[in-house]
Amino acid sequence: MRTAAATVFLAALVLSPSGKASAETPASVVPGPKGPGLHLQVRTYDQTALAPEIRGGMRQATEAVLATAGIQLAWVSCDPGLEAASCPAPLGRHELALRLVRLAPTDTTGAVTLGYSLVNPTDRSGALATIYVDRVSRLADLSALDMPTVLGRAVAHEIGHLLLGTGGHSPAGVMRAIWSPQDLLSNRPGDWAFTPREAGQLQSALTSRRTSRQ
Ligand SMILES: [Zn+2]
Repeated sequence: MRTAAATVFLAALVLSPSGKASAETPASVVPGPKGPGLHLQVRTYDQTALAPEIRGGMRQATEAVLATAGIQLAWVSCDPGLEAASCPAPLGRHELALRLVRLAPTDTTGAVTLGYSLVNPTDRSGALATIYVDRVSRLADLSALDMPTVLGRAVAHEIGHLLLGTGGHSPAGVMRAIWSPQDLLSNRPGDWAFTPREAGQLQSALTSRRTSRQ
């Protein structure tokens, strides 16, 4: 079933003609961190067969951004061939789903979407995000940045949309709308963090999720 959903555009960039695929063997199910703070569980549905080192780097980069909002992540692999036992169960309120996919190359002259989240603006909820791994890889190439790091930051951006339940963007921080190669190269302090206001909103949203009905 689909609810009224808004397609949220993550970012835009000018593409180069070259793309890079990242296809290797999936990694294993990874338990999440334990300790103080708010916890969020992310189920991954990786249709791109990320190499283990790329997956690991992605997770680290995502965790680093979410940590700026005081949120710790746990990962559950529902990747093909590596499905955790809990994958058939419905998503809990404290869980999100992340799809990693590729798209066939299209127009490379303008801005493209790196990913999107489905959010219900009425009750400000969302549970499914999609990232286009090949596009992220191209942006990483253009920016001369580590691909897993860019990928993880893109994932964090979408998690922000899902938790906040909005497609809105910020002029600064990880929730800004446009990520150009030049923007990434400048790597300004705070670019890969939630703003203090967003951090408070994320914590409230996650707390609300965890205390709501299952
Ligand atoms: Zn966005």
